Amino acid sequence: MSDKISNDKAAINFIRHQINDDLSANLHKSIQTRFPPEPNGYLHIGHAKSICLNFGLAEDYNGKCNLRFDDTNPAKEDLAFVESIKNDLHWLGFDWDGKIHYSSDYFSKFYECAIKLINKDLAYVCFLTAEETREYRGTLKQVGKNSPYRNTSKQENLQLLEQMKAGKFSEGECVLRAKIDMASKFMCLRDPTMYRIRFDKHHQTGNEWRIYPLYDFAHCISDAIEGVTHSLCTLEFQDNRRLYDWILENLDEFNRPDRPHQYEFSRLNLEYTLMSKRKLQQLVQDNLVSGWDDPRLPTISGLRRRGYTADSIRDFVDRIGISKVDSMTDMAILESSIRDDLNSIAPRTMGVIDPIKVIIENYPEQQIETLQAPIHPQNEALGKRQIYFSKELYIDRADFAQKAPNNKFKRLAIDKEVRLRNAYIIKATSFDTDFDGNITTVYADYDAQTLGKNPADGRKVKGVIHFVEASKALTAEFRLYDRLFSLENPGKNAHFEQLINPKSLVTAFGVVEPNMQNAKAQQAYQFEREGYFCRDNQDENGSLVFNKTVGLRDTWAERD
Ligand code: ATP
Ligand code: MG
Repeated sequence: MSDKISNDKAAINFIRHQINDDLSANLHKSIQTRFPPEPNGYLHIGHAKSICLNFGLAEDYNGKCNLRFDDTNPAKEDLAFVESIKNDLHWLGFDWDGKIHYSSDYFSKFYECAIKLINKDLAYVCFLTAEETREYRGTLKQVGKNSPYRNTSKQENLQLLEQMKAGKFSEGECVLRAKIDMASKFMCLRDPTMYRIRFDKHHQTGNEWRIYPLYDFAHCISDAIEGVTHSLCTLEFQDNRRLYDWILENLDEFNRPDRPHQYEFSRLNLEYTLMSKRKLQQLVQDNLVSGWDDPRLPTISGLRRRGYTADSIRDFVDRIGISKVDSMTDMAILESSIRDDLNSIAPRTMGVIDPIKVIIENYPEQQIETLQAPIHPQNEALGKRQIYFSKELYIDRADFAQKAPNNKFKRLAIDKEVRLRNAYIIKATSFDTDFDGNITTVYADYDAQTLGKNPADGRKVKGVIHFVEASKALTAEFRLYDRLFSLENPGKNAHFEQLINPKSLVTAFGVVEPNMQNAKAQQAYQFEREGYFCRDNQDENGSLVFNKTVGLRDTWAERD
């Protein structure tokens, strides 16, 4: 164990304590973890917590972390999901050790283990219907009843299992159960199902198998086969740890002191969104979002398209830490991780999301001035960009008022001065409206002596607004995202799909600086005074589409 680990207080959590103890006791020479996604959907940020934990521990302790697809349910799984998971893992900055593992690699081994348990009189084939099984299981308050099939002979059970495997029974007709204890206070020990019959084609093994192991049976054996030392899962599997241990302790080949052990940590729950693949899939299937990578979703691919960086997601996972306390995490923590990252790296630019025209009446006709603006005000090394100034400009509708509503209004108003960012001070003189009374054009005068300096007569001009020169401006689509749901814990509601925040996506058409034509897909920018955006990775025919990643500061709490 390196000094770095024992000294790094911030990173110390109960799992690291356990690993330190196990290494000190020489239980293992080195540690091994695994990340075991089921390929039945895209990864979400909850998975990122598990990924950073498992791969992070392997990295810090010089151990190994396997990627294992937990593919024991052919009905719900798909190769496209396998590919997306591999891609997201790499993007997050992790790589698996050696080859990719699949639970389906071990189908023969699981079968062998089932036979061993039958031979020890610890498993039996049960023909109770699903409803009867539920009835026999009892409740937390009431012990269960033994199945009438519990005393079938080993010989007969071996034959029945073979027949199940050979497809002699129909789906649901029977299952293989562990023979443990129908009176246990842990429901998962009341003769849990280990194998069930499924006729679906499997994406790795085709039609070879007619029986598929359940998670509890497959997971511990897969861990043991691969030499996993610390099997980390979320808290809802706490009780199942008894079953994990029971299976490994009853299979002689795995019942060793250095066998894997399971440890549970609390899952990530994020406010205003959902953290379940099944529910996310429902939103995708019902076309309530544009796909698994809709930038409003908490999927890794959605966050990426929205403009989140891998660094910011890893930083977020560090900030929330690992514990055993179940809680809801404030979305503001995730947003501040990306804001902090982008503040230091995102080039600055100006874009007007809701433009109105400004005509500078005392500026020469036909003249276009080229001005220099810093790419990043705190990082001069990034250099400058060219922007333009002329008689016709665009500013944002919200940056002009006929009369300043109060003293705090530091924008443009009739007879008030404001600085145009990276350019001159202007003063509004009059404006035009359309038939509905909407302002269409503002007329202003500029002070030619104020480029990059304050007025010589000592006038104080506090406000600064952004602008884009009109003749060279490019039109752009801005997709303004907000929280997907307007309530904190939408998952608690049975009809969560009806609770989508109607303002979660607002599309606006505005203008940007001409140099934005070269913006690369996914490249992050700070549109000054507006927020962080990135160019969408799917905009077509060279059209400019910018996804809003996050605002410049947290304004959620200030809303009505
Ligand atoms: P979901 O409910 O979203 O389908 P899952 O647990 O069924 O999640 P898996 O593909 O089985 O999804 O998960 C792979 C790993 O990621 C597991 O070890 C699981 O514990 C972990 N994981 C899943 N969701 C979270 C979460 N919200 N927070 C932390 N870890 C998670
Ligand atoms: Mg699962």
